Amino acid sequence: MTDKAHNPSLDTLLPVYLQSTGITVHPSCNRRAGGAGPAEGITIIVNERPISVPTTGNTVESSPFSLQHIDGKHFIFNNGSPVKEVTLLPSPHYYTLKTAHGTEYREIALLHGAHCLASTVLQQCTYWHSPDRCTFCGIELSLQSRATIAKKTPQELAEVAKAASRLDGISHITLTTGTQADASFELEYLASCSAAIKAETNLPIHVQCMPPPNLSSLELLKQSGVDTIGVHIESFDQRILKKTAPSKARIDLKYYITVWTECIRLFGFNQVSSFLIVGLGEKNSSTLDGAALLCELGVYPFIVPLRPIPGTLMEKNLPPDACQIIPLYQEVASLLHSSGLSWKKSKAGCVRCGACSGLPDFEHG
Ligand code: SF4
Repeated sequence: MTDKAHNPSLDTLLPVYLQSTGITVHPSCNRRAGGAGPAEGITIIVNERPISVPTTGNTVESSPFSLQHIDGKHFIFNNGSPVKEVTLLPSPHYYTLKTAHGTEYREIALLHGAHCLASTVLQQCTYWHSPDRCTFCGIELSLQSRATIAKKTPQELAEVAKAASRLDGISHITLTTGTQADASFELEYLASCSAAIKAETNLPIHVQCMPPPNLSSLELLKQSGVDTIGVHIESFDQRILKKTAPSKARIDLKYYITVWTECIRLFGFNQVSSFLIVGLGEKNSSTLDGAALLCELGVYPFIVPLRPIPGTLMEKNLPPDACQIIPLYQEVASLLHSSGLSWKKSKAGCVRCGACSGLPDFEHG
């Protein structure tokens, strides 16, 4: 058996390099502007796995990689030479549809990766106009550019999910939200959206939220049909977290652990995750120690490279160099293996999709 973690092949490394440097693409290629998640990027299928790759930002102009279309096929070129044939997904059929009120379905939810329908149900964040805004986040940019609407209703989400399932074969859902001043409302709203989608499609649903002050609201999510949950600490380097996500840094680590533990009780082993962003200026050792702690709890540490989105407070930063993140992927893949965690066991959401991270390619077996 190939040891993917310690002797990574070119196929394992290519997505990592692409996410570090970005890629230049022809302007006609599909590209997302602003927003949360894989903003300002393109999804490329490499070895049957979707990879979200930046197409704008500091590194892209000088990136050695370009995407070229030759005789009906797509190829990644490195410094002018073809290195890999890849696939681009066609624009989803449901993007052509509108609600009875004239809202385009794509303003309500987007296709992420190859099979995930994703929506930011509340596109505004209580911290956006304050010093506590997370420096890496672009949540309100897509609202400013009118690519989306501020509030998606449960009925609209259910309508879009049904159409995307029927027309484009989506197989799971990710729901996220900007932080609301009223934490109970935030969780109740996610619960209503999840219940409406579940009733219409029965698809597995992932939600992402801040650690709620009241643990019983997690129970409400479970009762509403949520299958997996992401409670994202972003970084275990407290000094860096204070600078980049002050509102998260104010929450005691002990409370994060309480919330993750309760989530595991409700949603199960491997069905809880936390993003760990690499490239915020943190020490690799903090990411590794944090990933070890998460694995011990049964929480999947979803390691993602920073994507400096134009318009955000980190737009001038760089994604992490491949040399920084590869050893992390290797070490965390070993931790996942010894803990019995795997992206393959996740029912829904970012871990299931995997497009924003190179980690799935490093997992053993
Ligand atoms: S990993 Fe998450 S944020 Fe990234 S494309 Fe997939 S669902 Fe979207």
